[in-house]
Amino acid sequence: MDPRAYLCPKCGDTGDDPGILDVHYDYAAARDALSNHASRRGIFRYLPLLPVRDEAPVLPAGATALVAAPRLATRFGAANVFLKDETRNPTRCLKDRATTIAMTLAAESGASAVYCASAGNAAISLAAFAAHRGIRCHAFVPSYASPVRLDWLKRLGAHLHVSTGNYDQAFQEAEQAGCEHGWYSRNCAFNPFLVEGKKTCGLEIAAEIAPDVVIAPVGDGCTLGAIGKGFREAREMGMITRLPRLIGVQAQGVQPMVARFTGKSAPEGETAAASIAVRRPRNALRLLRELKVSNGEMIAVSDSQIESAQKLLAEEAGLVAEFTSAATLAALAQMKSLAGKSVVLVITGGRVD
Ligand SMILES: *Cc1c(COP(=O)(O)O)cnc(C)c1O
Repeated sequence: MDPRAYLCPKCGDTGDDPGILDVHYDYAAARDALSNHASRRGIFRYLPLLPVRDEAPVLPAGATALVAAPRLATRFGAANVFLKDETRNPTRCLKDRATTIAMTLAAESGASAVYCASAGNAAISLAAFAAHRGIRCHAFVPSYASPVRLDWLKRLGAHLHVSTGNYDQAFQEAEQAGCEHGWYSRNCAFNPFLVEGKKTCGLEIAAEIAPDVVIAPVGDGCTLGAIGKGFREAREMGMITRLPRLIGVQAQGVQPMVARFTGKSAPEGETAAASIAVRRPRNALRLLRELKVSNGEMIAVSDSQIESAQKLLAEEAGLVAEFTSAATLAALAQMKSLAGKSVVLVITGGRVD
């Protein structure tokens, strides 16, 4: 396996949708091997379903709590509402699952440095994991990156490359520099191995319950697409017998994936949900496929609905979530016929700034 083989040699990065490769496993062998790894830490519990040779001594991500929120279940008329509390990861975000794979593969390939393009959670996650291992981290950030997030990156010792342009430009600059210097890429919307870390979120939920509905915020589409893959593999492993409906949430101001799913275009606007304000989603194809097989859908919510949901999460479930992550509860509030259903909200992050 070449840990640097990222894009399809035929379609590559020519169209609007980059041809990001997918990782497959010998599922019969994985099923037999899975129980041998039950005592491993965090996401390495699923080692036979991960594209790494062995567990690496990196910050421990995964094995996050699935927290029942009975007051929210009563309020919205569902049998159960659970919060998959990803704020309990090392940098308070689901991104740490992907970073775990990036750091492991970077070590396996002997890379001297790692890099990513992001002004937010992905860069902070990578900077923290790199600091812990003593590896150089290059963070490519857009011109408008928030001072608070830049401060996090500086504290964690990241080498900052501030672009003169937007996220797309920072992304191009990152890939160019990374390629030139032989650094290891932690860009999920490019490196297919990273979503394998994110899918463990789905595997962990399936190991505890068989939900009817799973709701997550959608930016590039990597997170929910990966969770969908996790549930399909959980079914393959005999952990569950049916797939939950996947519901992807975007903000009304920036909803390209809702538009693609419904076929209806929406006017371009703004949103305070910074972690999902992606105007050109790079992993759309995978997510659309997962939505289809799970009979799922995309929902748009307004910023004021997200704001109310963020407040409600704190007041009735005791969880302080990032603004973006509260969009999951805003979507739940819009759904009908929840009677008898078990719903999981993936609380992707907890950094409030
Ligand atoms: C990155 C991120 C998302 C969206 O993930 P995508 O893979 O871009 O769809 C959602 N919530 C938080 C907190 C994030 O950091």
